[in-house]
Amino acid sequence: MKELSGRILFSIALALLITSVLVVSNLSCKQREETGDKIMVAVTILPQAEFVESVGGEKVEVIVMVPPGANIHIYEPTPSQMNSLASAKMYAKVGSDVEFERTWMDKLLAVNRDMLVVDCAERIELQEMVGGHEREESHGATDPHIWLSPRNAGIMVQNICQELVQVDPENSAYYEKNRDAYLQELDKLDRDIRDNLSAVANRTFMVYHPTFGYFARDYNLVMIPVEEEGKEPTAARLAYLIGQAREQGIKVVFAEPQFNPQSVEVIAEAIGGRVVFVDTLARDYIRNMRILRDELVQAME
Ligand SMILES: [Zn+2]
Repeated sequence: MKELSGRILFSIALALLITSVLVVSNLSCKQREETGDKIMVAVTILPQAEFVESVGGEKVEVIVMVPPGANIHIYEPTPSQMNSLASAKMYAKVGSDVEFERTWMDKLLAVNRDMLVVDCAERIELQEMVGGHEREESHGATDPHIWLSPRNAGIMVQNICQELVQVDPENSAYYEKNRDAYLQELDKLDRDIRDNLSAVANRTFMVYHPTFGYFARDYNLVMIPVEEEGKEPTAARLAYLIGQAREQGIKVVFAEPQFNPQSVEVIAEAIGGRVVFVDTLARDYIRNMRILRDELVQAME
């Protein structure tokens, strides 16, 4: 009797196992079909994912090369990320000479020669890096951080749409309608930032890594970077920065989670201020830019 019930239990367990295996394999098959209909678009950084999704809607699936929390200057893609490019129809590169692309673009394209490459920086007026950066000597100091200007973001979105229409001309009206709606949101973001910052009397801010060059240009602000050629500042520069911060009435030193420098703590302590961490690579671009604006307005009041 005991043996019999044991056997029955075993059969039930086996049946359950088979059913669950069938359900799981059926599910993954279904998922594959669903993504199979979509146009795979690879991008370098997370904000570009919002740009592509805003234009492509439910017709696209985005692969992001530099994952959340990674430093765009030193990140190396994994083999599985490289493999995922095999199914991509399009690669939207930032195009402003970001280190990741300078190092990896050729290798990424070698995985899939059929990918249409979009240069998001096309028609964007590039400017020089403010202050020190890791490649000041070797690379003519082009500021790669173009996406932190909503106006530049608008051009990036237009470039993406233009190429997406090439990949999938049948749906061009859909993409163009989406593009226009998102451009309107970017326009509103730009106007809001301008309005909010117009009342700010102290227009100088301090940040560890010089990410906000284009932002400062657009909104008539002065950025003082702490970093010196991609490294922590020397003692002499640190003393100079503390003097500058006092002179300019700076109370906040901005930093990014990707960089965790001691120098910002030292400066903040010396001026009796605080360190504020901001994310410059968030996937939800517009929402994050509003957070950033709020932090800046608060810091510069
Ligand atoms: Zn950078």
